[in-house]
Formats: sequence, C-alpha cells, structure tokens
Amino acid sequence: MTNILVTGGAGYIGSHACKALKAAGFTPVTYDNLVTGWEEAVKFGPFEKGDLLDRARLDEVFATYKPAAVMHFAALSQVGEAMRQPGQYWHNNVGGSLSLLEASVAAGCTKFVFSSTCATYGDQDNVVLDESAPQLPLNAYGASKRAIEDMLRDFEAAYGLKHVVFRYFNVAGADPEAEVGEFHRPETHLVPLVLDAIDGKRDALTVFGDDYATPDGTCIRDYVHVCDLVDAHVLGLNWLLRDGKPSRVFNLGTGSGFSVREVMDQAEQVTGKAVPHVIGARRAGDCTKLVSGSTRAEAELGWTPKRSDMATMIADAWAWHKKGHFDH
Ligand code: UDP
Repeated sequence: MTNILVTGGAGYIGSHACKALKAAGFTPVTYDNLVTGWEEAVKFGPFEKGDLLDRARLDEVFATYKPAAVMHFAALSQVGEAMRQPGQYWHNNVGGSLSLLEASVAAGCTKFVFSSTCATYGDQDNVVLDESAPQLPLNAYGASKRAIEDMLRDFEAAYGLKHVVFRYFNVAGADPEAEVGEFHRPETHLVPLVLDAIDGKRDALTVFGDDYATPDGTCIRDYVHVCDLVDAHVLGLNWLLRDGKPSRVFNLGTGSGFSVREVMDQAEQVTGKAVPHVIGARRAGDCTKLVSGSTRAEAELGWTPKRSDMATMIADAWAWHKKGHFDH
C-alpha cells in the first residue's frame, strides 16, 4: 500500500480526505497536533500526533512511513481570528508549512497536494475568479496561504517539488455515511451554525451584515461538498503520482453563488424548521462575493462534483449534526 502523509487528517476536510484515500487504495497517515482536530476522526489509517513546527517529529514520521506524497491540510483557517491574531497565522501556517516542506524534501518526498483558498483572491469587483486572477488577500489567513503557494514554487525550482494547489471556495456538507463530519470548537462556519441555531443548540444566528452590494444584502459564497472536494484531491494526487504531470493550480468551486440568506432559506426547507437569527455588523475581513470562475478542475482533472447542490450539502450536514458528532 502507498502511504500518503495527511497533515490535519484529524480535521474536517482532512478526515474526509483520509476516507477517500483509503477507498482509492492508499494508506492515509494522519499527522495532527489535535489543536483543532479530533482523534475520533482518525478512522482510516495510522495516527501520529505532532506539530508541523516540530521538525524532529516530522523527520521521524517521514522515516517511519516513507510517504509517496504529502496532502497538507493542517492550518488555522478562521478569517475573524486571522484579523485579530495575524501573527498566529504567519507562525503556524507559514512557519509550519516551511518546516513541513523542508522535512519533505530532506526525506526525498517531492509530491505535494496543498489546500489553499479563494481567500487569496480577496474582494475583486467584476473580476472573473479563475486561477489567473490576481491574488490580493484581505486577511492574514489568505495572505498566509498565498505565501505558502509562493514557497511551493520556490521549492519546485530548487528541489523539484511537484505540487497541486487547490484553492477552495466554501466547503460544506459531511460524509453521507456520517462516519466523519464538520466539527469545530468554537464553530465559526455558516452551515453548522445555521443547523445549531435551528436545533436550539445555540442562540440565534448572527448574520454578519445585510448591507453588502448583493441582491439581498448578504455575502455570497460558492459552496462545495466536502466529499466532492476530497475527490478532487485524490485526482490531484494521481495527477502527480500516477501520471507524472506538472505542478498545477486548480480552483475548487461550482461557479454558483449562494447568499447567507439563501443558505438559511435552504436549511429551512431541508429541516422544515425556521432559523432563529439576528442581523449583526459586518465581520472584518469578509469579502462581498467569492464565486469560482473556472472549470479547469473539471476539464483537466476530470472532476465531477456529485453532491454539491445546496440541498444535498445541508441534508448531509444535518444528518451528521443529528448524530451528535464528536461531542462526548
Ligand atoms: N456568516 C454569518 N454568520 C456567522 C458565520 C458566517 O453571517 O455566524 C457569513 C460570513 O460573513 C460569510 C459566510 O457566512 O459571508 C460564510 O462564512 P464562513 O465563516 O462559513 O466561511 P468563510 O467565507 O469565512 O470562509
């Protein structure tokens, strides 16, 4: 079996990636410091607890498993926190990725799949957000991811590190078998917060601003089902490992935008319950609209999103939510 080192494999997207990797015949080796991840989510391969900034620990794990490639998910990823504590984002995301890249090339592992973000594009009016759009991040989260993309290019030039970069739009939904799902503490993401509010697990949802220049005044995002997203990662891995293709950047979005209000409306339809909510102030660092303007992943990787319609994403997230997640 081919080992793949999955940093952040105990997190939301990383744990779904491990499930997809196992189904595709790989052995996912999770490397996670459990600061935001959950050991209960590591179900599909070995677990090695460790921090990206701990180079000696990383060297040990590379030596033990000799992974054929790295899938790098581990990162701090909250826009609000990034505005308040930018240093943490530069330290953990950029410093941690540097340590990982150095350990990787030192171990002779030169295939890398990286989770970047549409937050690297920032707020650009009337610009089609394809992979050639300028990267003008509004917050330290996006800036840290852009810096790691730069690092990957430099490591390719120096050490031949081949990489696939995925710039995610918004990720939602959960494994339809509900073995893993979205679970953050604190939760900051829209879909789980909407479901918590519906279920009375928290007070009303605060809508962060309804005075944006959008049809209903709330921010617009492009939501992708986590299972479709991780399927793209397996395709990206095969692009590098099996096909020996060159480094490439892919947006992962559907090209359809949903406003915060539209997400709430859809959640009401799926669950049959109202979303208690209040209108609050804008959240610093938020872009008005982020919608992918590219079909490169479909055209070149053969990616076909299967569950990324809003009703399915919310239904899957709701089924996971009802199961009680890892809250025990
Ligand atoms: N949002 C909101 N209330 C919340 C959380 C999020 O109105 O409690 C909005 C947020 O302003 C953004 C969208 O929902 O427009 C998605 O936010 P999320 O944090 O889920 O993802 P992001 O777009 O920041 O990656």
